[in-house]
Amino acid sequence: MKATPADQQELLRLQSIDTRLQQLAHKLGALPQTAPLAELAQRETAVRGTRAEAIGALEDARSELTRLESDVAVVEARIARDTDRLQHTSSVKDVQALEAELASLAKRRSDLEDQELVVMERVEDAEVVVSSIDLQRAAIESEVAELEAERDAAAGGIGVEREQTERDREVVAAGVPAELLAFYEQRRARGAGVGAALLRQRTCGGCTMTLTGSDLEQVRRSAPDDVVQCPECDRILVRTDESGL
Ligand SMILES: [Zn+2]
Repeated sequence: MKATPADQQELLRLQSIDTRLQQLAHKLGALPQTAPLAELAQRETAVRGTRAEAIGALEDARSELTRLESDVAVVEARIARDTDRLQHTSSVKDVQALEAELASLAKRRSDLEDQELVVMERVEDAEVVVSSIDLQRAAIESEVAELEAERDAAAGGIGVEREQTERDREVVAAGVPAELLAFYEQRRARGAGVGAALLRQRTCGGCTMTLTGSDLEQVRRSAPDDVVQCPECDRILVRTDESGL
């Protein structure tokens, strides 16, 4: 293939733009916030599970407390009724029976109140656990929001640079003859993103092989408008004053 040395050198500009575009795409895919955000999402899930358990324990304790309170209310109603009866009876037998029942009801109420105290403590403990979990959640949420904002800002910066670089590429690509551009694209697709490389001090900038012997002779013999390729990596070798030929 033939192309003027100037057109061939334009390929180096195009290559540096393409390399930059590749770096920007890689940066977008591997922003430093991505890994910590994934880790925070895992922690958030774990904390949500722990919170569900803690809420379950709290609800159990609260309903047990409600049950005890209603038991106490029943006992108190019976105490009131028996006390009232006691005041209105003249039968010694009834008095004895009512007094015995009142004694046992008083014992029952006292037992229930002791249980209530224990369960109240459980409710309070469970509330403390839930609110400490909520604090953890809030801390995770604010960390996530901060990292997301950082990531979006970084991505925005990369996005702007990418748009500018893409516009630069259009301009440079428009100045390269179509056939040479197509050849470059083909080499680039096969050369892991590098289609054209500068030959500097007889060394290929694409694969770092230094030309010697007949390979070097062949490049030296090529006309300036011959498009030469690296014998090792097949990439387009662009010759300049730096090529050491
Ligand atoms: Zn090479």
